[in-house]
Amino acid sequence: MTFTRSSRVLAKRGSHQPPSRSYAPVVEPLLDRLNRPLETLRISITDRCNFRCVYCMPKEVFGRDYAFLERRELLTLEELARVVGIFAGLGVRTVRITGGEPLVRRNVEHLVELLAAIETREGNRLELALTTNGSLLTQKAEALAAAGLNRVTVSLDSLDDEAFRAMNDVDFPVQRVLDGIDAAAAAGLRVKVNAVVKRGANDDGIVALAERFRGTGHVLRFIEYMDVGHTNGWRLDDVVPAEEIVRTIGAVWPLEPLEPARPDSTSRRFGYRDGAGEIGVIASVTQPFCGGCSRARLSAEGRLHTCLFATKGHDLRGPLRLGASDEELAGLLRGIWSRRTDRYSELRSAETAALPKVEMSYIGG
Ligand code: SAM
Repeated sequence: MTFTRSSRVLAKRGSHQPPSRSYAPVVEPLLDRLNRPLETLRISITDRCNFRCVYCMPKEVFGRDYAFLERRELLTLEELARVVGIFAGLGVRTVRITGGEPLVRRNVEHLVELLAAIETREGNRLELALTTNGSLLTQKAEALAAAGLNRVTVSLDSLDDEAFRAMNDVDFPVQRVLDGIDAAAAAGLRVKVNAVVKRGANDDGIVALAERFRGTGHVLRFIEYMDVGHTNGWRLDDVVPAEEIVRTIGAVWPLEPLEPARPDSTSRRFGYRDGAGEIGVIASVTQPFCGGCSRARLSAEGRLHTCLFATKGHDLRGPLRLGASDEELAGLLRGIWSRRTDRYSELRSAETAALPKVEMSYIGG
C-alpha cells in the first residue's frame, strides 16, 4: 500500500482519517495496447532552466519574451506527491524528477522528502532519481541525499571548457559541473553522466569524456541527438550514431556488450575489457527502443504524456483541482495507459520529425 507520510502519521496517532489511497491498488501490471507495463514516471517540476543549451532551449526561442508557465499553473509539491502516490498504486516503482532544470524549483528537497515517504504497491520505497545540469549540485547534493534521493544523472556534454560554455550558451564553466558531480558522490548519491552528442559541436570530445569517467564508478552514457520539440532545427545529419560512438571509444579501450540492466532500459551497456567500468549509449534515433518503454511523463503543469515525442498530453491538473478522488484519478490514469499505442521513434520519418511536438524543456528528459 502507498501512504503519504502525513497519512502514516495520522494512522499512527489513531486518527480515523482514511489513508491517502482510498482505492484498491491493481495487482496485475497495468499494460498498454502493446503489452508494455507502466513502471516509471518522469515528472517535470519546472519548464525553466538556467542554461540555454543550443540543442534544447535555444536563446532565440527561449529569450526574455518567452512565456514560461506561471507559478499558479505548476502543480504544487503536494499535488505532485499525490499524483505520484496514485501512480505508485498502479505499478510505478521509479520516479525521475526532471525539468527544465529541477534544481531551480524552490524547495525541491521537500518534494524529495514527500516522495520518499511513498511506497510501491509491493511495499518498497520508490527509487528516486533526478536529472540535472549539475550547476546547483554543489549546494544541494547533501540536502537531496538526506531527503531520500537515491541517484542523480548529470548532463555534461563536453569537458572542454570553451565547447561546454558554447553548448550551454550562458558561459557556465565546466569545472562547476564537475564539482557538482563530486559533491553528489560525496553525499552518497549514485551518479550517472549523460552526454548528448551533436555532430560538429562536441563529437571530438567523446574519448576525453570516456577517459574522465573510466574507473570512477560513474556510468557515462552518450545520447543520440534527438528530434524532440520543434525549435532546435534538428537534422538527421547532426546525429552521431551510437554505433560510431562505441567504435570510437572501443578503438582506444576495447569494449564488450553487457546485458541490459532492466528490460525497459533506454541504454545499451558496454563494459571496458580492462575492467574500468562501463559506458552506455542511448540510441533513440538509430536503434529505437519503444518496445520496452514503460515510462509515463508528467509535465510541470500536470499534463500526462505517454511518449517523449507526444504532440499533446492529458490534463490531470483540472480534475485534481476540481476535487477528483484518488479512485477517480487512478481510473483516469488506467484508461490513458491502457489505450496507449505510442511508438514514435520506431515510426520516425521526415513528416513526423516536423510535427509540433512538445519541447524537451517542458516535458523533461
Ligand atoms: N536540466 C536537466 C538536465 O540538464 O539534465 C534536465 C532536463 S534536460 C531537458 C534532460 C536531458 O535531455 C539532458 O541530458 C539534455 O541534454 C537532454 N536533451 C535535451 N534536448 C535533447 C535532444 N534534442 N536530444 C537528446 N537529448 C536532449
